[in-house]
Amino acid sequence: MSLMSSVNRLSSEKFKCHECEVDLSNDEVQHTWKCPTCKSLVHIYAEDIESKTKIVLLRKPASEIEDGDLVHLPGGLTKKSYRVLGVNKKGDKLGLGLEGYGQYLVSPEEPINCRTGAW
Ligand SMILES: [Zn+2]
Repeated sequence: MSLMSSVNRLSSEKFKCHECEVDLSNDEVQHTWKCPTCKSLVHIYAEDIESKTKIVLLRKPASEIEDGDLVHLPGGLTKKSYRVLGVNKKGDKLGLGLEGYGQYLVSPEEPINCRTGAW
């Protein structure tokens, strides 16, 4: 199992490539979270029935996080997301500066859930 596939997930997830306009299966995307055809980030339509959470996510390694991204902390997919104000190198780690939270220290290859919307 790759690190990217060990990411925090919700119980029900569907996957779409908006570039190719196709639905993708879990097996096609779970190691990269990218479209096997065009390599774009896959839009993940994630649902948790208990908490009535229906969110759209992109998953990418921490090294690809940019200012303005909305980050869900591990275990926090049904909770709020935090806006990235800046990314700083701290030795071999990255410090993500999160609005209303503070610094979140992660490894560059750690998969991060980024919120892009709701559905
Ligand atoms: Zn595609």
